[in-house]
Amino acid sequence: MNNTKPILGIFGGTFDPIHYGHLRCALHVQQACHLEQVRLMPCHLPAHRASPGVSAEQRADMVRLAIADYPQLALELLELQQHRPSYSAISLAQLALQYPEHQLAFILGMDAFNQFTRWHRWQQILQLADLIVCQRPEYQTLSAESQALLLHRQVQQAVDLQQPGKGRILVLDNPLHPISATELRHSLPELNACPAWLPPAVWNYIRLHKLYS
Ligand code: ATP
Repeated sequence: MNNTKPILGIFGGTFDPIHYGHLRCALHVQQACHLEQVRLMPCHLPAHRASPGVSAEQRADMVRLAIADYPQLALELLELQQHRPSYSAISLAQLALQYPEHQLAFILGMDAFNQFTRWHRWQQILQLADLIVCQRPEYQTLSAESQALLLHRQVQQAVDLQQPGKGRILVLDNPLHPISATELRHSLPELNACPAWLPPAVWNYIRLHKLYS
């Protein structure tokens, strides 16, 4: 019996602001892994970690603008609507209830994956979803913890995720995008034109609302 369910990708992050590194990874994963959709899920940020003058709603607005032309991407507001710090394990449990007809795949960059075993209830994440890890320049060395995790869980091909299952890890051979939101935030006050790594609609929004200045 073929009981394969469509796969929903969940891409969590601060998206402060969203940039082409995020966007192109989401698009690449969606296509390479045949995901029905990738849902970008901005996290809640405690006040002391939030960028001054940039609200959670504005981070969500920027994601909405960046994905507007891509029906295969969607904004997931679950964590922002909770108005308190949220853990991926808890969010994924809620999403699994919300989408019982789908398999879940949690998407993260290599830098985040290298920290994964320090996350709250990380084992639970692997009971709820597969992981899809995107390569990222400057973070291409796997930590010892990541290597141990991959030992019994790594699958080699995207097609392997199409089989029913959870807790498998696919490390993608994706194009590299040498950009980080931190770098962008630092350079934005000096810029007079839209940088190559920012969707123009996001740049216009940042200018209009005088963000990161
Ligand atoms: P910062 O530079 O402030 O850490 P960030 O862009 O890494 O920002 P997030 O917005 O939280 O931070 O990233 C969301 C997810 O996107 C994370 O899993 C991160 O690893 C991944 N990611 C971010 N930038 C890239 C990139 N250039 N290539 C691949 N993955 C990325």
